[in-house]
Amino acid sequence: MASHNTDANCIFCKIIKGDIPSFKLIETENVYSFLDIGPIAKGHALAIPKYHGAKLHDVPDEHLGEILATLKKIAIAQGVENYNILQNNGKIAHQVVDHVHFHMIPKPSDSDKEGLVIGWPAQQADMAELKQLHEEIKGKL
Ligand code: AMP
Ligand code: ZN
Repeated sequence: MASHNTDANCIFCKIIKGDIPSFKLIETENVYSFLDIGPIAKGHALAIPKYHGAKLHDVPDEHLGEILATLKKIAIAQGVENYNILQNNGKIAHQVVDHVHFHMIPKPSDSDKEGLVIGWPAQQADMAELKQLHEEIKGKL
């Protein structure tokens, strides 16, 4: 069994412990999932590792393995056709709760009034720069 890290001041750790109520969906040995209390679409749900870590790289792999399968089950159960899986790291990347969490956000229509609204400032890549970056990253993996 993977050992769990908790933070007594963390709202999601309190939810896992049962000290704060939640609309629980699936719970496994390493994952807890529940409905988001501030949904941006009907059925907006969260899946979190039971191991407390603020950002993705703070959580050991063995605590993350079941998360995608959990979100997939929740999406299938709701019969959602269009949805986003989102995981924010850091305040300027829109992270508000400092316990890693993955969103499953249904996108019921193309309206900006429900579901995730994405800004995507794509630029044309400079191929020489991209090649250099590729080498740099590969060298560190
Ligand atoms: P993020 O911006 O990625 O940190 O998202 C945090 C999410 O947690 C938001 O969508 C909130 O609505 C949600 N949230 C915060 N507190 C609770 C809570 N007590 N129960 C359920 N969801 C929560
Ligand atoms: Zn926590």
